[in-house]
Amino acid sequence: MGKLHLEYLDSNQLYVCGSCKAHLTNNRELISKDFWAGTGKAYLYNKVVNIYTGVLEERMLRTGLHSCCDIFCKNCDCKLGWKYEWALEPEQKYKEGKFILEKNLIEKAEWEN
Ligand SMILES: [Zn+2]
Repeated sequence: MGKLHLEYLDSNQLYVCGSCKAHLTNNRELISKDFWAGTGKAYLYNKVVNIYTGVLEERMLRTGLHSCCDIFCKNCDCKLGWKYEWALEPEQKYKEGKFILEKNLIEKAEWEN
């Protein structure tokens, strides 16, 4: 197998894997900081790179029935959060195809330009 190909993002505010620092997403993809996960606060993003998804499962959440799959770092296999594939409730549909990253599992990297 060849070397693992990782994507690199260009932004002055990146979110990276908490254990290997692989780039995941940036502040332009951030939708909401108002989410909660098992480990504490969690953020919702439009797009996340350098990840792969686990098994799709149905979860009954506070906001109704969803199908989700956990997401993992492509570089170090660490769990990072989950992806919403489908939501039952019409007002939750905006989350479909979007990604949750758990604040305690990622790091924020900022650079001065
Ligand atoms: Zn990683």
